Amino acid sequence: MRPLTYTRAATIEDAVALVAADPATAFLAGGTTEVDLIRAGVSRADHLVDINALPLAGVEATADGGLRIGALARMSDVARAPAVAERFPAISRALVLGASEQLRNMASLGGNLRQRTRCAYLRDGVSPCNKRAPGSGCAALEGFNRGHAILGTSDHCIATHPSDVAVALVAFDAVVETHGPAGGRRIAIDDFFLEPGTTPDIEHPLAHGELIVAIDVPPAPIARRSIYLKFRDRQSYEFALVSVAVALEVREGVVAGVRLALGGVGTRPWRARRAEAALLGQPADAIAFRRAAQAELEHAAPREHNGFKVELAKRALIRGLAEAGR
Ligand code: SF4
Repeated sequence: MRPLTYTRAATIEDAVALVAADPATAFLAGGTTEVDLIRAGVSRADHLVDINALPLAGVEATADGGLRIGALARMSDVARAPAVAERFPAISRALVLGASEQLRNMASLGGNLRQRTRCAYLRDGVSPCNKRAPGSGCAALEGFNRGHAILGTSDHCIATHPSDVAVALVAFDAVVETHGPAGGRRIAIDDFFLEPGTTPDIEHPLAHGELIVAIDVPPAPIARRSIYLKFRDRQSYEFALVSVAVALEVREGVVAGVRLALGGVGTRPWRARRAEAALLGQPADAIAFRRAAQAELEHAAPREHNGFKVELAKRALIRGLAEAGR
């Protein structure tokens, strides 16, 4: 392993200044992603700035009915927080299903949002991979792509985004607050995850040294009965083949409100807006659920080994809607 140097930051400003000053310096929070990436040679960082002493671990219920989650809050603490479980059960459930207990106790929410794809070609250090080595190609296009994306793909990258909780946060229009060399800003979560296009190495609109400080979730009464379902090859320590976050409001048999997002199928956590639009004002029944699922997957672009995800995603949406409507 390469030698690493290490600094413990005392303030947000120090942390940002230290990382921004050097392209080979990275933030270190729970370490559950960054250390793996350094070992695999994907991260080129040779200096780590430990941010665990920063006061960013709170989980607050806001007076308007939303949440403010510090970027250093551990996945397990967020999942257990009463305000999260009561106001946004899909977020809580996505966190519980998102990792083993040991990982949940270490991994921070900010780190979760910045984790990188599990595409094996990225992590093997040698295969052509436009994310690791821009311009080198994409081994997954003609390689083994069973776990890869069918939505939001490009000819340059078809990797799935691996986070579970990000799927639920996308469904509820969370906002990512950052502090960077140019000051603070707020980024709608829809704008935080970038599709690969021709630059799959650029995954977020963040400047080097820009630190996530909090995630705000606006109030959403519809979310109080929200659910998160995850379908995978085995029931533990495994990423989603397909997952779905669902919240549904039905009045007199008609869909009056709906939030839908998919995981495991998109190059980013995938807000299912086509399905939402197809459902609003329609009877809350199996026919409408099926039609909405078809509308969402109409533009799916499967490759050789992942065609099964198209039908699996449709069924996940239909089942999620049926369960959320009970
Ligand atoms: Fe790299 Fe993306 Fe292709 Fe995987 S899918 S090899 S991450 S470019």
